[in-house]
Parts: sequence; structure tokens; C-alpha cells
Amino acid sequence: MEIDPVSLTLKEMLRMDSLALHNLAKKTAGSLTRYRALCGRLLLAIQRTGAYLEHGCSGAVHYAILQLGMPVREARQLKRVARELEALPFLRLRANLGEIDWSKLREVVRVATVDTEQRWAELCKTCTYAEIEALVACCRPGELPSEELLRRPPRTELRCSFDPEQMAVIERGLQILCQREGRVLSIGQAIELLFAQVIADGGVDEKRLRKLRLEALKDLRWTDVINAETETLPDTKIEIVNPKSRFPTPAQRRQVLRRDGYCCAVPGCPNTIWLDVHHIVYFASGGLTKSDNLLTLCTKCHRNVHENELKISGDAPDALVFRNRFGKDLRYQRTLDVAFWLDIWCGWRGERRYQRAHERAPERLAA
Ligand SMILES: [Zn+2]
Repeated sequence: MEIDPVSLTLKEMLRMDSLALHNLAKKTAGSLTRYRALCGRLLLAIQRTGAYLEHGCSGAVHYAILQLGMPVREARQLKRVARELEALPFLRLRANLGEIDWSKLREVVRVATVDTEQRWAELCKTCTYAEIEALVACCRPGELPSEELLRRPPRTELRCSFDPEQMAVIERGLQILCQREGRVLSIGQAIELLFAQVIADGGVDEKRLRKLRLEALKDLRWTDVINAETETLPDTKIEIVNPKSRFPTPAQRRQVLRRDGYCCAVPGCPNTIWLDVHHIVYFASGGLTKSDNLLTLCTKCHRNVHENELKISGDAPDALVFRNRFGKDLRYQRTLDVAFWLDIWCGWRGERRYQRAHERAPERLAA
């Protein structure tokens, strides 16, 4: 007997093997994109045919809010993406095949054109959502991200929400900070100054703040910007060597963390706190304590390596291979799929079940 995956409970899923769970997850993710694209196209059709009028609505978005119970943001987004996909045959096909994640798709359609859509589709396979979002923010329609852009993140907008009493603390603190500095500080300047004081472990004046920003440029490895500055920043280049020591020195550890962007180096792992410096070839197996054999890992990935769930080989940072326990390369996202069982279990058999608006009985419309 055929099982309806939609009806599977968490309890039943916990009894499934990992391959079955993985295949279901891929199909479901692919289907989400496919059905969102379909929903967007339907809204577009409802807009263009004026079908929303029969529901007393002002447009397809109003119809989606009222009749489909959608939040306004989602309705607008579905319609926008569908409209943009109409001019992008390659991305439209990828979306219909469920081969591209919706969150990435909704970003790239803002800037992709017929000439660039294939490149954007490739970038979707190799970049994370956050990277795609950042690249799209820097490109105009028709543009592709330059090599420089692929490396350099854009300006960041920080949004926080606070309770009234938390905000009162912040406002009072900002007042005091402005008085202490003898100038008016924006909340952004105040945040930078306060964190700079944390990094410097003490007071920070203009000169010290400039130095900290240069250090930050080193963290970002923007060598072109650093070279344009007059100051010399020696320790970005010089390799600190103590190959026979069991543990890296604090300076060497800092250097490795900086090189790896203060983030776990495993592709896609977002962890930035609780980081270890790991020997790629184990020290016990003759691996040396030098930068091409050292790698930043979060404690969870570090444990995965030592429990053989994750295998890392090659030289850090540019010639590394990450494989799972079956030897599959982690850097490539698995191809998403669509679940045809959704069609079946939604009751759709492919037959012509719709009627034109004027053929429908009025009482059905009222329902
Ligand atoms: Zn990790």
C-alpha cells in the first residue's frame, strides 16, 4: 500500500532510515519552490484576468490576503517572483523542476536577465542564501557580481527590537556616552565604540579606533584596501612557525582564526562561537603545527571529524576537501527534487477540472 508522506508523524519519521529522511527532505524542499512559483503564477493570472473582482477584491494581493489567508508580504513576494520569472525561462524551468531553493530564487530574480540567469543559477548551487542575498544587494539588473564582489560583503543593516525598559537603558547610556565623548554619537557609532572598547579591553580614542578598523580590514582580508593605507600590517603575511609543538601559540591561533574568518571552516557551518584550531593531519600521525595543516572548526564539527562522520583532507585554506562518511563532497548542494506524490495526495490527477468563469453557476461563486 502506498504511504502518504504528508501524513507521516514525527514519531514515524524517527523510525525511518537516514537516506529515506534525506530523500523526503530534498523532495519537500524542491516542491516548496515549485508550488510557491505555481501559487505566484496563479496570483498573476488572477490579477490579469480580473478574477479577483468576483471576490470583491482590489487586486490579486487583496484576494490572496482575504481568500487564501496569506500575509501581505508573502502575497506580494509570490506575485513579484512569478512576474519576474515570466521573463526568465531558464530560472522558471529550474523553479518548476524544484531545483532551486525558493529563498535564493526570490533574491536572484530581482537582478537576473536572460543573459545572466544561467550564471545566477550556478551561483545558487555554490553560495549560501546569505551570500546570494549579499551579492544581489550589490548588483543592478543585468549585472553579475565581480570577483571583487564575490569576496567583499556589502554594508550591513542591523535591526534589533527592544522592550521599553531596555530602550530606556540604551537611551540613558547613549546620553552618558555622548557627554563623555564630548560629541553627538549615533546609535551605530556608539555600538562600534562600545565593542571597540571590549576588543581593546579599555578606553578607545580616535587613533586607537582607526587601528582597530585596520585590524578589522585584516580580518576581512581586503588586501587592496590595506595596501592603499600607509600603515604596514606585517602579520598578515608572515607565517608563524613552530611545527613540532603540539599546540599552536596564541599568535598562531589568532592567525588561523583570522584566515578562516572567525567561523567554522566546514562548508555551510554557521558556527562562530566555541571555535577550535584543528590539525588536518593529526599531530599524533605526524601532522605539523603550521598554518596549512591547521583549520578552524566549531566544537560540533571537530567532534564529527574525530568520530569519522566528517573527513577533511588537503592543505588549508584553499585546497581542502570536506567529505561525509560515505565520501561525498560537502561543498556541493544535493540536487533538489519535486515530490509528485504531492500532486496525487492533493487530489490532482491532471484532468481538466476547471471551468471558465462565465460557465460557472452563480451559487458556486457565492460559496
Ligand atoms: Zn562547524
